[in-house]
Amino acid sequence: MRLEDIDTPALLIDLDALEANLDGMAKYLADNGTKLRPHAKTHKSPVIARLQMARGATGVCVQKTAEAEVLAWGGVSDILVTNEVIAPAKLSRLAALAPFAHIALCADHPAALQYIELAAENSGVRLDVLVEVDVGAGRCGTAPGEDAVALARLIAKSKHLRFGGLQAYQGQAQHLREPERRQAEIANVVARVRLTVESLRRAGLSCETIGGGGTGTFPFEAESGVFTEIQAGSYCFMDVDYSRNLDAVGSPARMFRQSLFVLSSVMSVPKPGVAVIDAGHKAVAVDSGLPVVRDASGFQYVRSSDEHGVLCFGPETAPPQLGEKLMLIPGHCDPTVDRFDWYVGMRGDRVACLWPIPARGAVN
Ligand SMILES: *Cc1c(COP(=O)(O)O)cnc(C)c1O
Repeated sequence: MRLEDIDTPALLIDLDALEANLDGMAKYLADNGTKLRPHAKTHKSPVIARLQMARGATGVCVQKTAEAEVLAWGGVSDILVTNEVIAPAKLSRLAALAPFAHIALCADHPAALQYIELAAENSGVRLDVLVEVDVGAGRCGTAPGEDAVALARLIAKSKHLRFGGLQAYQGQAQHLREPERRQAEIANVVARVRLTVESLRRAGLSCETIGGGGTGTFPFEAESGVFTEIQAGSYCFMDVDYSRNLDAVGSPARMFRQSLFVLSSVMSVPKPGVAVIDAGHKAVAVDSGLPVVRDASGFQYVRSSDEHGVLCFGPETAPPQLGEKLMLIPGHCDPTVDRFDWYVGMRGDRVACLWPIPARGAVN
């Protein structure tokens, strides 16, 4: 099948660009000597996770118990839930994965440890627990230093848990546009992590894993000498928001290519300068900004409703034909993926594969 035969809206992957992104990150971190544990909340796909593992990734991150299940059932053997899981029903599901995948999760409160411990004991397994430290994002996590040590001690004492190390992700730093600001923010992160590692060492506890970093900041974490694992997710696809990050020479970041697109069709040309396409915000996420029309500089996506996207164009741009297909670069890749059942993998303008998105909607 060719591009023009694909029904719309559809979620497309440019496989050459995807592979270049996977190769680029794998090589960068291999040269740097830091492990890669990509975040699978981006792609929600065991197929892409296995492409990452084949390039040396040590495992994957997920955010949700249901994502962990899909990836474990899809053959991924090492999974870190980079999140606090409290509900006993979810913890017993995670413990049930432990016989066929290495499972780790995060905690930031002593009461949470009791729930995790009970689930591990009931299932007769041992679970790895990382202490999440708030390194500046102001979301989950203990304070750096002694609070983290107190929790690590409890984990290390438990018969059913193992202290795995620290979770130290600063999500807000990822999208600071100027590289100096991202670097400065990660310098603060690194200082908080160092302080915590020192406190742990004095308490006789060592960290096997110190994880964090995303697509916007990973070189800074990787070069810190403190982080052992990078958790970048969006680098496989990129999106409009990430394309607006500047790199060291001030131009838009170029290390990774856009590989994810929503294919849409023109369904109405109601008046001069306006075209309406069949991709509104049920087909493409707008939480981090509107999508951009690829290779069609004359068209501007100006407004979305549930099932309609409104494009404007000037008199110098040839009006589109009804049914004409346009490729959108999503504003935000992760929630766009969550809207589709399938990826359509493209080599040039030919369909090469269909990959399911089984962790789509995995909110539990
Ligand atoms: C989302 C997330 C990442 C990956 O961030 P990207 O910006 O998509 O690369 C890494 N770690 C954690 C804990 C996350 O939630």
